[in-house]
Amino acid sequence: MSKVVFFNVPAHGHINPTLAVVRELIQRGEKVIYYATEAFRPKIERTGAVFCAYRGVPDYDLAGFSGNFIRLAALLMEATQSAMPALLESIEATQPDYIIHDVLCVWGKLLSQITGIPAVASTCLFAFTPATTSSSFGFVLNLARMVSTSLPSLVRFGRAGRALARTYGVRPPSHIEALGNHEALNIVYTSRAFQPNSDALGDDYKFVGPPIAPRDDATDFPFDRLSGGPVIYISMGTIFNERADFYRACFDAFAGGEHRVVMSVGDKIAADGLGVAPSNFIVRNFVPQLQVLQHADLFITHGGMNSVHEGMYYGVPLVVIPQMAEQGLVAEQVVRVGAGVRMDAVRITPGALRAAAARVLADPAFRERSAQIGQTLRAAGGYIRAADEIFAFKAAHNL
Ligand code: UDP
Repeated sequence: MSKVVFFNVPAHGHINPTLAVVRELIQRGEKVIYYATEAFRPKIERTGAVFCAYRGVPDYDLAGFSGNFIRLAALLMEATQSAMPALLESIEATQPDYIIHDVLCVWGKLLSQITGIPAVASTCLFAFTPATTSSSFGFVLNLARMVSTSLPSLVRFGRAGRALARTYGVRPPSHIEALGNHEALNIVYTSRAFQPNSDALGDDYKFVGPPIAPRDDATDFPFDRLSGGPVIYISMGTIFNERADFYRACFDAFAGGEHRVVMSVGDKIAADGLGVAPSNFIVRNFVPQLQVLQHADLFITHGGMNSVHEGMYYGVPLVVIPQMAEQGLVAEQVVRVGAGVRMDAVRITPGALRAAAARVLADPAFRERSAQIGQTLRAAGGYIRAADEIFAFKAAHNL
C-alpha cells in the first residue's frame, strides 16, 4: 500500500473524472488523501478517500475565470503563493509516496519539485502544451486578445512567480506551463484520436477516455414524445447557460417542423419563462442527457468537454456554439475530426441555426466520424487503465 496525496481545483468538471480513478486506487489498497474545498467533501468522501480542505486556496469560482486564461494563470500562481506554506507543512507531515494533481494545480507541481516526491498529472480537458496550442490559429488569436485586456494579471502572475522562485528555489512556470502542469505521467480523460496535435505528445501522455457511466436520472422524461421525426437535443451546459435569446432563436428555428426538439435551459431560467414552447419541443431545466443522446440525431451544444464526449460516445453529430475560450478549443477539434460544425455565438439567428442543423443532418459523414471518435473513447480503457498506468508509474519509481 502506498500513500498518495491528490490535489484538485474546486470545480466539478475537474473533480468528477477523477472519482472513479480514486475509488479504483483505494480498491487496489492505496491510501488517498484528497485536497479540494469544503463543497466537494461529500462526493470525495464517497470514494473512500480522506478529504482535506485547502487552507490558503481561495474558494474561488473557477468557472468565472477560465474564460480568460491570463487571469486564470494569475489566480493560480497567487493561490500557489498563499497556499504553499501550509501545504508544504502538511506534505512534510504526511510523507506521501507520490502526488497526483490536476493540471491547473501549480502548487502540486511545485510541491513535487520542492520535496522530490514524484507526481502524476490529471488532465480533464486536452493536454495543453506549447506544441499543442501554437498550431491553433484561433487559440493564438484569442490568447493575444486576452493578453491585451489583462495586463494587470500579467504583472500579478510575474510577481507571484518571482516570489515563489525566491522562497522555494523553484523555476517559475510560464503561462502555458501554469495551465498545463506536465509531469512524468499525464492521465488525460479523452482519446488520443480526439486530442489536438497528439503527434506532438509522447508516451508520457496516457489517454484513458472520459468517465461515462449510467446515471439514475431519467425518472419522468417523456421519451415516448421523441418518435416521428429527427430528434435535436439542445443544451448550453450547466454553467454559462443563461441564454434566453438563444433559446428563443431555437424556438423560431425549429417550431412546427418535422423535428422533435429537446431543450435543456439550465437552472437559472424558469422553463416556462421563455413563453409557450412550440408543440414539437420538450423544454426542461435539466434533462437525462445520456439517455436523450441515445435518441438524438443531432446535438446542439456549447462545447463543454463532457457534453461533446457524451455526444460522440453515442455517435451523435454536433453543432458546437462555444461560450468561452476552452469550449472554442473543443469546437475547433470537433470540426477538425469531422464530427460536426461550429457556429459563432454572436452570429446566431434562427435561419443560421436551421441551416447548420440541416447541413449536419443531411450529411451522414458527420454521424460516422462522431461514432468513430466515440469508439476511440469507449476503447481508451477508462479508470481501470488510469489506475494501471499509475501502478506502472509507481513500479518505475520503485514505490
Ligand atoms: N447535463 C445533464 N443534463 C442537462 C445538462 C447537462 O445531464 O440537462 C450534464 C451533461 O451530461 C454533462 C454535464 O452536465 O455531463 C455538463 O458538462 P459540460 O462539460 O458539457 O459543460 P459545463 O456544464 O461544465 O459547462
